[in-house]
Amino acid sequence: MSDYDYDLFVIGAGSGGVRASRIAAGHGARVAICEESRVGGTCVIRGCVPKKLLVYASQFAESFADAPGYGWTVPPAEFSWADLIAAKDREIDRLNRVYLGLLDNAGVDLHMGRGRLIDGHTVAVGEQRFTAEKILIATGGRPWVPDIPGASLGFSSDEAFHLDRLPERILIAGAGYIAVEFAGIFSGLGVDVTLAYRRDRILRGFDDDIRRAVEAGMEGRGIRFRYHAAPARLETVDDGIEVTFSDDHAETFDAVMFATGRAPYTWDLGLEDAGVHTGPGNRIEVDEFSRTSVASVFAVGDVTDRVNLTPVALMEGHAFADTQFAGAKRPIDHADTPAAIFSQPPVGTVGLSEEQAREQGLEVKVFRSRFTPMKYTLAGRAEKGMMKLVVDARSDRVLGCHVVGPDAPEMLQGFAVAVRAGLTKADFDRTIGIHPTAAEELVTLRQPV
Ligand code: NDP
Repeated sequence: MSDYDYDLFVIGAGSGGVRASRIAAGHGARVAICEESRVGGTCVIRGCVPKKLLVYASQFAESFADAPGYGWTVPPAEFSWADLIAAKDREIDRLNRVYLGLLDNAGVDLHMGRGRLIDGHTVAVGEQRFTAEKILIATGGRPWVPDIPGASLGFSSDEAFHLDRLPERILIAGAGYIAVEFAGIFSGLGVDVTLAYRRDRILRGFDDDIRRAVEAGMEGRGIRFRYHAAPARLETVDDGIEVTFSDDHAETFDAVMFATGRAPYTWDLGLEDAGVHTGPGNRIEVDEFSRTSVASVFAVGDVTDRVNLTPVALMEGHAFADTQFAGAKRPIDHADTPAAIFSQPPVGTVGLSEEQAREQGLEVKVFRSRFTPMKYTLAGRAEKGMMKLVVDARSDRVLGCHVVGPDAPEMLQGFAVAVRAGLTKADFDRTIGIHPTAAEELVTLRQPV
């Protein structure tokens, strides 16, 4: 046993930190973790989990609207934001307790307070100091808001979960995951939503057919897009917040939400004191084993700005613990990481987009289907779903699988296994469909487009 207080000290009890500490403790390490806010981190407390609960809440509007097509007479429905937020908060409290229990059961010591590196083997938490053979930084990210006049009149996703009441008109700035997900939430709950984006189409980086299908579905739900426009100034006026855009056009809203990205949370962590190198945007630079420039200090999750998704942080934390405390050698592999966007309509995606495949010089065959989901037929909803396979013309391997439409995120988990396993289009073709489902389209796509 070493002379240090602990074998491992983890800074930040979010997805990556909690997973790493539990697994390391399971391998017999003496582990402590510190947290300045609430155990559970962004995903559980102010991210994926409460977001998905709000998505569920907002989808009732569509169900009520579609129900008459199926013979239901629906009395005017009423919605209480206060009740929803209270119920959501109770669930988050429950999950917070579950996370506390997980740490406790694993025998991990929890120190509440902000952790700061003193050197490569010492962490200060408030007035206390702890030494450890290895230190893991898992402090995640924080919303980033552009530095424009009046920016403080707006809010980020952190505050969106705790608004006193719903605005009537909201502007959402940005066009990434958070912007499109919250546009759907607010719109479903009856808010008049405008999304402003500095370029020409939402969800940059995703397959173009995904971007078009989500845009069309959002427009069909009444969401307005203002492209080539970013907020340049916010001012309080009598009837709300006046936003002047980069094109000098001005418009008034009741609320402005910035979904303009997130930044690694490295502020005042003592990185310089300990000699830990940071890269662009202050992300902590790590190698394939999540090791920083200091041999005893490691980092996982959003603070390293590799692939900023909860399951990736979990994988990175787990691989770190196995490698450092179980004698395994588990380098990080981000290939074919599947992702979902809980927009309305939702997206599931894995592997290369058509554009990425072509940029890599690959010769590709593209199979695509656009169709009306069966559920929408009696409801009279015109919206179309989209399914797409990007296939390597030479090897027949399926390089990418992209779906927009109901249940797309659920569907993609299974198809991600197939893509990750390197299966071919012929493997897809000889798989029998499940009928009647939307997913069967993915094994019955016959003609390349
Ligand atoms: P993203 O990086 O996805 O999107 C940021 C958006 O803000 C982009 O549209 C970007 O434009 C725009 N933007 C950036 N800077 C400015 C600026 N100065 N003025 C105007 N617009 C600007 O960040 P998000 O905040 O949406 O999400 C953060 C991360 O959280 C994501 O990367 C994702 O990893 C994770 N996340 C995952 C979810 C999921 O898995 N379902 C859900 C929510 C978040 P441009 O395209 O021009 O750069």
